[in-house]
Amino acid sequence: MGTRFEITAISESEEKSRLAVEAAIEEVIRIENLISSWDIESQTSEINRMSGVRPVKVDKELYDLIYRSVKISNLTQGAFDISFASIERLWKFDGSMKSPPLEEDIQKSIQYINYNNIVLDEADYSVFLTKKGMRIGFGAIGKGYAANKARLIMQDHGIKHGLVNAAGDLTAWGKMGNGEPWKIGISRPDKIEELIAWLSIEDMAVVTSGDYEKYFEYQGKRYSHIIDPRTGYPTSGIKSVTIICPDAELADGLATAVFVMGKLKGIELIDLLKGIECLIITDNNELVTSKLLDLNLYSEENTDGPIKK
Ligand code: ADP
Ligand code: MG
Repeated sequence: MGTRFEITAISESEEKSRLAVEAAIEEVIRIENLISSWDIESQTSEINRMSGVRPVKVDKELYDLIYRSVKISNLTQGAFDISFASIERLWKFDGSMKSPPLEEDIQKSIQYINYNNIVLDEADYSVFLTKKGMRIGFGAIGKGYAANKARLIMQDHGIKHGLVNAAGDLTAWGKMGNGEPWKIGISRPDKIEELIAWLSIEDMAVVTSGDYEKYFEYQGKRYSHIIDPRTGYPTSGIKSVTIICPDAELADGLATAVFVMGKLKGIELIDLLKGIECLIITDNNELVTSKLLDLNLYSEENTDGPIKK
């Protein structure tokens, strides 16, 4: 998935932990093969190739992932949209792009972005992108899904305490090795080796989307690798969004959506959702949190006894 997974198992036997971690790695690879839109052999690529042509029958697993993705689109009024992918090739966030793509190319591409044109048929688990040229991609939800599935496999292997971290898409269950709840640090967006805050969690996902790894800078302004589906342009204004809830996949999707929605609308949505909390760090280094977030701010003077907000 173009990223690094960190997998931790805590159990009474090293062998048991090792087998569980190996199974989790295999699971992540299996999911990558299913959902990658870069691998031309994947079912996702077949769906994209057949856009505007015909429905494609897929595994129930992929069908269900697309179904849930569309649900997140509905929940976020399209801020999160897997059909953003038609524009994916225009924007490059690896530093290779010197200026934004042509306006007319952007306008052309955004016509293809619309989750309402993803037609799902439960009768035969088929997926049809109704407009030729439409594409879907799971960049904003795949890691969260994979983290969930890796956790489930490890739990099937009897691992009662563990953690899966897909480069900031993290799910943790049980307790740390010392019997305390997991302590999860949140990086300072402009200095990621430093912490800005931390949380104490059990059986919870903490998912952070940041603009500090992949971004595009133009005329002194920084653009994130998250695209606003309405405009076709990368979002700006927010440096990082962290979502805390039991489901890493939902958290992943919502983190992306909040980037697009912006701090006010984003927090408003999260405050409506029970059991889901959020931390936003804006371009001006302002920390904005949802109502019930129990966040501990990290401070230089007090590194082992963090200050409660
Ligand atoms: P991170 O990679 O920081 O964890 P995200 O989970 O937000 O961030 O995923 C960003 C990726 O999601 C982008 O690289 C792109 O592939 C995809 N994406 C960008 N904009 C959108 C959007 N509006 N809706 C859905 N997916 C998006
Ligand atoms: Mg995401």
